[in-house]
Amino acid sequence: MQLTYTNGSNLPSIKDWIANLEKQYTVVDVINCDAYSPNNIDLYNRIKVNYRSEFDQHDRIVLTITRDYHNDQYPAIMLQSIQTMLNEIDISNFFVCIISTDPEIDNNYDWIAKNISTDAVPVHLYKASGEYENKISTFTAYQKFSGFGNNSTIVNQMSDREKYLLLESKTFCILPWISQYTMPDNNVTPCCLFKGSLGDAGTDSLEEIWNNSKTRQLRLDMLEEKSVTACSMCYIKGQVYKDDTGFRASYNRDFIEHFKKVTNTNVDGSLDQFELKQLNYRPNNLCNLQCRMCSSNYSSSLYQVERDLGKTVIGGAFKHSNPNLLEQYTKHINHLQHIIFEGGEPLMMKETYDFVELLDKHKRHDIKLQYITNMTHTGLGKRKALDLWQNFTNVIVYASLDAEHGRGLYLRPGSYEWNQIVNFRRQLIEQRPDIFFCVQSTVTILNALHMPDFHRSWVEQGLVDAEHWIVNTLYNKEYLRVTTAPAYLKDQIRERFYKHLEWLRPLDPFGKSSAGYVAILNTLDNNDQFDPDLFWKEIEQRDTIYNVKLFRYFFQNWLTYLANCNIIKSN
Ligand code: SF4
Repeated sequence: MQLTYTNGSNLPSIKDWIANLEKQYTVVDVINCDAYSPNNIDLYNRIKVNYRSEFDQHDRIVLTITRDYHNDQYPAIMLQSIQTMLNEIDISNFFVCIISTDPEIDNNYDWIAKNISTDAVPVHLYKASGEYENKISTFTAYQKFSGFGNNSTIVNQMSDREKYLLLESKTFCILPWISQYTMPDNNVTPCCLFKGSLGDAGTDSLEEIWNNSKTRQLRLDMLEEKSVTACSMCYIKGQVYKDDTGFRASYNRDFIEHFKKVTNTNVDGSLDQFELKQLNYRPNNLCNLQCRMCSSNYSSSLYQVERDLGKTVIGGAFKHSNPNLLEQYTKHINHLQHIIFEGGEPLMMKETYDFVELLDKHKRHDIKLQYITNMTHTGLGKRKALDLWQNFTNVIVYASLDAEHGRGLYLRPGSYEWNQIVNFRRQLIEQRPDIFFCVQSTVTILNALHMPDFHRSWVEQGLVDAEHWIVNTLYNKEYLRVTTAPAYLKDQIRERFYKHLEWLRPLDPFGKSSAGYVAILNTLDNNDQFDPDLFWKEIEQRDTIYNVKLFRYFFQNWLTYLANCNIIKSN
């Protein structure tokens, strides 16, 4: 998944180069670029603090690189980002020194000087000794860096108000201008984090919803920078995960080239054109799993379980979204940039294959295809996912996995073998190493103690990069919510997470994976109470239905403790 080189030991080290430069010049800043991702706004801001309208000719800004990213199309993506940022901030290359352990730094920069730099003068390059990591990445930094890159002219043409909304506002989000998500129950939202509904795709067309009163009001609220209640989870998560991906600020950067749509909003919040750049395709709730943290809205297999549990289940076992959804989306094929396939299980759904085949027919192989999958299906009948994706250059797989082997099956019951998941992952690594793969785990009271082991196990098996592991807390099921764990368990979770972070942090340079663990640690201090009656009632009911026993798979010592304290019945 990554190549590591060691540059010649006859070259000066990074430290030596810095000392040398300090003797010759006034070094105004030394920036370790390894601490940032290529398209990270924090790196942009870090470089930007050094901007001045006039430099002294002896001033130098020094940037160091020992890690970069590449993909089929682009080499040295960090290097590209840096040049893009320098263009954008308007710092002349003359005042910039880049010290890198990249053995190919000269060739790589040559390409950048010709294709990206807006300055006739190149930056000063210094080749240093030491290790160099060259990772495969789906970043296409010079196009996407903070949304600027080749789009810097767009930023330059913006008014101060527009720039403020885009770059500094704490609430503005571009999605209501470019995106629609349709849930399996037909509710339409701008994204998956939005807690509310802008309309019902079962009764209204997507075009009608695009300019209905709720969507118009949402746009007006965004323009006035009102804090939107339905977006509150996104605001919180954006802070925790540093707005890198999947949240408001990252969308603003990714879709900057469409900011004109925001400028062209009518006074009543409507838009003259209905043009989707991003959508999530959730044709229905078909799913083979009965995950404990899910509901029948999102898994057809949970319909009978919820009925057996005596819950009120609205609708049938298999919810069809609006049958002409695909037909409505087809109108947007020429301008779509990003499609997210979710379910249910998207790799079980005929409709998702139909959609990708349609994109193939229209030669839209550049579209970003993102799947949120349980990894138990590699295809549907003769249609194999890997065949389907063969022409697509930007495929992203988020695997919803919470534990391995029996524990995994306990949390996500269904008719499958754990090895199916591992084999699918290995197939991806062998056949499509360029596919961005990330595990997305839900931490509950059941698996919190085991999460670090699972994470490490997959990294050690070479199945995932340590940093591509996102942990989320479950909020909506109180008896499973980790914040309701008894104090004894919370202490153990803290201990294990802190230890895990010691291992993870050096492998997680952008802090995205660590941020999830830290967020959970922060929530453990609240006063939520463990309710043993509720916990055991819910667990035992489901264990009976699934014919399994919690004791077989989870935290024996905690259960023993609870039994000793008479918190649970002997089991
Ligand atoms: S602010 Fe967040 S929740 Fe609201 S629409 Fe944008 S991405 Fe979705």
